[in-house]
Amino acid sequence: MRLDLHIHTTASDGDLDPENIVAAAIAGALDVISITDHDTTAAVMPAVRAAEGSGLRVIPGTELSSTRAGREIHILGYDVDPEAPVLQAHRTRAREIRLDRMRRIIEGLAREEGIRVSLDDVLAAAGPNRDMVGRPHLAQVLIDQNHARDFSEVFRKLIGDHCPSFVSTDLQAPEEAVETILEAGGLPVWAHPPLDLLDDLLDPLADAGLLGLEVHRPEARPSQIKRLRAAARSRDLFTSGGSDWHNLRRNSTLGTFWVGRSKVEPLLEALGID
Ligand code: AMP
Ligand code: ZN
Ligand code: FE
Ligand code: FE
Repeated sequence: MRLDLHIHTTASDGDLDPENIVAAAIAGALDVISITDHDTTAAVMPAVRAAEGSGLRVIPGTELSSTRAGREIHILGYDVDPEAPVLQAHRTRAREIRLDRMRRIIEGLAREEGIRVSLDDVLAAAGPNRDMVGRPHLAQVLIDQNHARDFSEVFRKLIGDHCPSFVSTDLQAPEEAVETILEAGGLPVWAHPPLDLLDDLLDPLADAGLLGLEVHRPEARPSQIKRLRAAARSRDLFTSGGSDWHNLRRNSTLGTFWVGRSKVEPLLEALGID
């Protein structure tokens, strides 16, 4: 069984719409995927419908943004009710806050770097069906305007979390994101936990109801996997994994990276996947 439990679509900052994600997952020989867009579940039902009759299993999901001490913390939610009122309220609020934050990042770029970008250009790059605007849309504009060569350079030099123009989402605390997922009937899993925050955040998040850690990722080194698995074991948490797939430019297709059943067995049992 080949799983990929972390995938973005055009509802947030991914390149493919839900129908094309499902087609790509089938072409990539995946058996189970989760649609985990930033702060929205807009693509979940379209993907579930597109997968009907195909044998591909689609787990409804999301990836909620939160902030602790200026650092972005992402909480995945598996098997959420995509229509849960608490998620719809979060989505409406996130849409507005992300728009305002984008304005402030653009102001920062003008002030700190002398780079002029318009919000309209960013919204045009995001496209008409986009639910959540995010830094990757701004990154595309900066690349198109020759301020950087590629995504890695634009994040390193201009809009990464460590850059002077960076503005955190400040939507909520990580514990609140965990609670929102639980209220929406889902399983909260900490996405790509930064190792330097693990000691400080693991206990408060687990106490808030966190149920898993994302351990298996394409770029994860064996030493990092070891550390995260030990942390998960210490608080009796599930381990999870996925590609965090966003775009075609990274030259990776869905199914290139996958997680085997044995690596995430207890999570699959909790999700009722056999
Ligand atoms: P935002 O939700 O607006 O803060 O944007 C976060 C998204 O930006 C992530 O999900 C990634 O898609 C992308 N991102 C963040 N850091 C980097 C990086 N260093 N290189 C490439 N993409 C990044
Ligand atoms: Zn993203
Ligand atoms: Fe993330
Ligand atoms: Fe992600």
